[in-house]
This record gives sequence, C-alpha cells and structure tokens, in this order.
Amino acid sequence: MDTAQALLSSVFGFDAFRPGQAEIVGAVVDGRDTLAIMPTGGGKSLCYQLPALVRDGLTVVISPLIALMRDQVQGLQAAGVAAGALTSGNTDEETDAVFAALSRGELKLLYMAPERLASGGTLPLLRRSGVTLIAVDEAHCVSQWGHDFRPDYLRIGELKRALGVPLAAFTATADEETRAEIVTRLFDGRQPDTFLRGFDRPNIHLAFAVKDSPRRQILDFTRARKGQSGIVYCGTRAKTESLARALTEAGHLALAYHGGMEPDLRRDVERRFQQEDELIVVATVAFGMGIDKPDIRWVAHADLPKSVEGYYQEIGRAGRDGAPAETLTLFGPDDIRFRRSQIDESPAPPERRAADHARLNALLGLAEAQHCRRQTLLAYFGEAAEPCGNCDLCDTPPALFDGTTAVRKALSAVLRCDEGFGAGHLIDVLTGKATDKVRQWTHDRLSVFGVGREYDKRQWNAIFRQMMGADLVRPNPERHGALYMTEAAIPILKGEGTVTLRKDTLAVARKGPVAKA
Ligand code: ADP
Ligand code: ZN
Repeated sequence: MDTAQALLSSVFGFDAFRPGQAEIVGAVVDGRDTLAIMPTGGGKSLCYQLPALVRDGLTVVISPLIALMRDQVQGLQAAGVAAGALTSGNTDEETDAVFAALSRGELKLLYMAPERLASGGTLPLLRRSGVTLIAVDEAHCVSQWGHDFRPDYLRIGELKRALGVPLAAFTATADEETRAEIVTRLFDGRQPDTFLRGFDRPNIHLAFAVKDSPRRQILDFTRARKGQSGIVYCGTRAKTESLARALTEAGHLALAYHGGMEPDLRRDVERRFQQEDELIVVATVAFGMGIDKPDIRWVAHADLPKSVEGYYQEIGRAGRDGAPAETLTLFGPDDIRFRRSQIDESPAPPERRAADHARLNALLGLAEAQHCRRQTLLAYFGEAAEPCGNCDLCDTPPALFDGTTAVRKALSAVLRCDEGFGAGHLIDVLTGKATDKVRQWTHDRLSVFGVGREYDKRQWNAIFRQMMGADLVRPNPERHGALYMTEAAIPILKGEGTVTLRKDTLAVARKGPVAKA
C-alpha cells in the first residue's frame, strides 16, 4: 500500500483516503474480484484509477456516462496519467490517438462505453492490448429491474471470461436484489469481495414531521433559515409553482423547477442556483442530477419521496462541503395513498410492483422509526452505526406505547366493513359517528361501531398511518383506496402479536389512554 499512498498525494493530490477507499483500493490492487457499494460523491473513481496505476498493464473502465468519461480522462491526462477513451463522442483524431497509444502499450486506463462491446473488433483489440483489470462504473446498469438498465452491460460477463482478468464493479445502488444481479451477471455468480461503506453523512441533520398544514410547516422551516440556499422537493409540478409563490410572498428568493418547464428556463434556474447564495429552488425530483453546489444548507420534502434511495439521494445534496446541514421530510396519509397508487397503476410486472411496495414500506418505516433515524437509514443500506446524536429522534426520543388494542380495533373495523372502505369512513365507525354513509351501509349496527371513542379523528388517522407504515393494511387500488388487511396483520388480529406505536405522531393528545400512557 506504500505505492498507493504515495500516488494518492503525488497524482491525485489527496492527503488521505476517504472512509472505505483504502480497503477497496487494496483489494483491487491485489487482483481480487471486487464489488464496492459507495454513495454518489463517495469517491468511487479513485478506487479503480489508483489501482490501475499501481498494477502492470492496462485497465479497461466501462462507464455509461460519456461526459463523465471525458472529464475523467482530461483530469487524468492533466495529472500526467496515460488515459484515453473510446466513445461515440470522440473525434476521429482522438480515436486514432487512442489506437496508436494502445498499440504502443502506453495506456494505463482505457475508458469505454458499453456499446463498444457489441462491436466484433473490441475483444481482439483488448486481448492485444494487455488488459489486466476490468473496472465497471455504475454496475447497477446490468440489472434488468433497475431504472438504468443497459443491455450492453450484459456483455461484460463474457468479456471477463474471455480475458480471464479480475473485475472491480462500482455502484451507489445498495439494495439486495440489484446486488445479487450484479454478482450473477458480472461475476458468474461467484461472490466477489464486497465493500459497503461511506453512506453516512454525519453533518446532515435528519428530521421527519407529520404533515398537518404543509405550507405553514415549510414556511416555518424556511423562516428559520432565511438567506440560506435550499431545495424544497414537491410531489407534483403544480405544487412547485404554488409553493414557490408562497415562499416569494413570505420574502424569500424562490423559484420553481420541474420537467414541464422550457429547457432554457430550467437551465436558467440551475445556473442561478449554482451562482447565488440565497436562492430556494422548489422542485420536483427532476432537479438535482447535474447540481454540484457544495453549500446547499438544507433540503426539505413537502411530500414524501418515493423510496429510501430517493430520500437519501435528495437529502444528500445538502452539506456537500461538510458543514452542518438541515433536512425536513413531511409525510401524511395522502402521501402514502399517492405513492401506493402510483405503484399499482404502473405498467411494471407484478413482482416489480411488489418490490416497489416493499421499498415504500422501508421508507415509511424510516418515517415512523422508533429510535435513531440515522441508524434506521444506515441499516437499510447494510451499514451498522451507533445512535448519531444528530437526528430528531436522538434530539427527542419518541414516547412509545402498546398500541395492540387500538390496532386490533382498527383491523376489526376493516374486516367488519368488508375491506371496502377508506380510513375516513372506518374512523367514523370507530368513533361512533353515524354519518349518512355509515347509516346507509348500516355500519352503525356493527359491533365495532363506537368502540374507539378513546381517540379522536386525528389520533385514529395517526394510528392508521402507522398501520400503513407497518404494512398491516393497504389501500386497494381497485376499490378507490379502500383498506384491506395484509398477512402481517393476522397474528395481531388473532391476539398472537403486539404492536408498539409512537405516541407523538398521535399529535395533540387530549384525555384518554394516549395522554396517560
Ligand atoms: P463518485 O463516487 O460519485 O464516483 P467521485 O469519484 O467523482 O465520486 O469523487 C467525488 C469527489 O470526491 C471528487 O471531487 C473527488 O476528487 C473527491 N475525492 C475522492 N477521493 C478523495 C479523497 N481521498 N480525498 C479528498 N477528495 C476525494
Ligand atoms: Zn440519531
């Protein structure tokens, strides 16, 4: 590792490795098959560039991002490293120069788009060029379930077999399914040395809040942070515009941003955000990909994100400079309904939809977490951690109570109403409110009518939300979001399981067992 350490400062100009880098570099230098999962911005490229310099021969880097390859090649060349790229963006002169350098055996790193692998000349060329290592960036592109599937990535496994050299794969996508698919397709199913590191962003304060009046909650949050750069993420385009107006009226400098805007206008917002210090951008998830602003001081979610991965990526845009940054994520029953129906209405195959529901459940579990939020978040990525002291739940540990009885009452109501009604109606039944609809269905004659008077409507809403979060009940997309029971609810209904609920999310506890518990 002495050479690696020396090159780290002489070529790359860094004093020290980042968390995880040293181990990964060590494994790759030793020629072991390696899978490294690191977050975006965690410093993956160094983990193959540095080994490429330490090792004899040529390292081929497969990457789907042409602009990124060009940047890296330029950066490496500027640092005196013999690197080249073969991409569709090359001029003929550039391509000729790469071929010439290859034939002289001068190149240390050759970047290549996956499409190149489809051409018959590529394998013989690489054989002649003395390749000793294959590095694969964005390795999740090999996953057919992923959003970034690249069919040509499936050829990489063949390439590895044909060349008989070690392979190092890199991705920021941590979920089990994708990881398993990478192992199958890139490593012929033989488990590589796997590293999962660096997901923690300790300077980012994590917080969730139940959405009661979202506009006021966002305005309160931004008022306390006036003059700081921040992003508010919204679930819909219309909302970005109305919320940007509200922020402007409250005296902030705020602009909306979404995929439906003219490209010129979008670029203008991106440019201003990059350059100005006090701007708030109110955006859909379309905003952020190309944003590389180190001093974003906060990120707020006016609506619940899609998944833990999405949440992590979006809050991760805050505090890249390492200075303290704040986040706030609002969530409510409407968000859960919205996200569930999005999944149910997608044209994806059933197993994909089931996986998306499970991903959403993980996020809801994080929203309703009962201890350190960062521990819960990192555990999702497979990283163990101590309680962080920098999240809302470490700041104020939530009070818990045994919610088994309440949940059992709610589940009975779901069943007695034939799994045909939404939370609103079920709550009317539980609290003994004989509305027209309740009478029309003669639900005022059910044994569960009025058995839940100890909680008010708000509190029952919170209980149902936590039940949805724990995936005990789900809205039925074919019946206008009527709640039905999942298998997980059966033991509770039978009296074989218990449920712990968070007291604080029951909001303003009046009298009754919630306040006393
Ligand atoms: P990604 O994991 O997203 O591919 P990069 O490899 O582009 O991340 O690295 C992100 C940033 O971190 C780059 O600006 C890079 O120069 C910087 N970086 C990587 N390793 C180190 C290090 N050991 N010390 C300081 N900066 C580093
Ligand atoms: Zn914590």
